[in-house]
Amino acid sequence: MIDTVFIDIDGTLLDFEACVEESMRLGLIERGIDYKDEMLVTFHRINDGLWRDLEKGKLTFEELLRIRWATVFEELGIDLDGPEFERYFRARLHESAIPMAGAFEVLEYLKPKYRLFAASNGPHEQQVERLRKADMLKYFEEVFTSGKIGAEKPAKEFFEYCFEKAGVTKAEDCVMLGDSLTSDMKGGSGAGMKTVWLNLKGEEKPEWVDFEIKSLDEIKNII
Ligand SMILES: [Mg+2]
Repeated sequence: MIDTVFIDIDGTLLDFEACVEESMRLGLIERGIDYKDEMLVTFHRINDGLWRDLEKGKLTFEELLRIRWATVFEELGIDLDGPEFERYFRARLHESAIPMAGAFEVLEYLKPKYRLFAASNGPHEQQVERLRKADMLKYFEEVFTSGKIGAEKPAKEFFEYCFEKAGVTKAEDCVMLGDSLTSDMKGGSGAGMKTVWLNLKGEEKPEWVDFEIKSLDEIKNII
């Protein structure tokens, strides 16, 4: 019987895309660059590629931070210092916590029924601070992050650490809820958990994912 739910943070509880857009737009304007929407598209393409490499173990988080904005600026032909902008960007993201639609309602619904843990790929202090700022920290027994664990979802080590700290003995009694197939669903499934995919873009559900929901409130139909 399901008694524990692990929930991804970005793209699931917090609207990371909205935080990224705001931080990038304001940062560029402050530095005298004329911001255009297509710059965000370029950032996402490069950033997604780097995160995929990170999830595959081809790149460390530190390497990602070192090259991310330099790569974006080079492609956009913008003459700015990549590492400097990275420091600004992360500081601003650290502050930003824009909730996803339905996030509070789903936490209110789940909290009385299940043990709740956050499970996120990201720096520990930042993720804890953003949950606190969004007033979501109170719902979680503990916040598990790759920054603290030293392994990224979908790695088995990430989930083994979570299970040990949470005192989980039966993975099949746990649910992993998240928006990413490559980290949340692959990781949760690999660790033996039930998987619930927040499929906001209407992509096709792979067979190995247990459940999909099109909005957070649909989780009520599953658990
Ligand atoms: Mg996510």
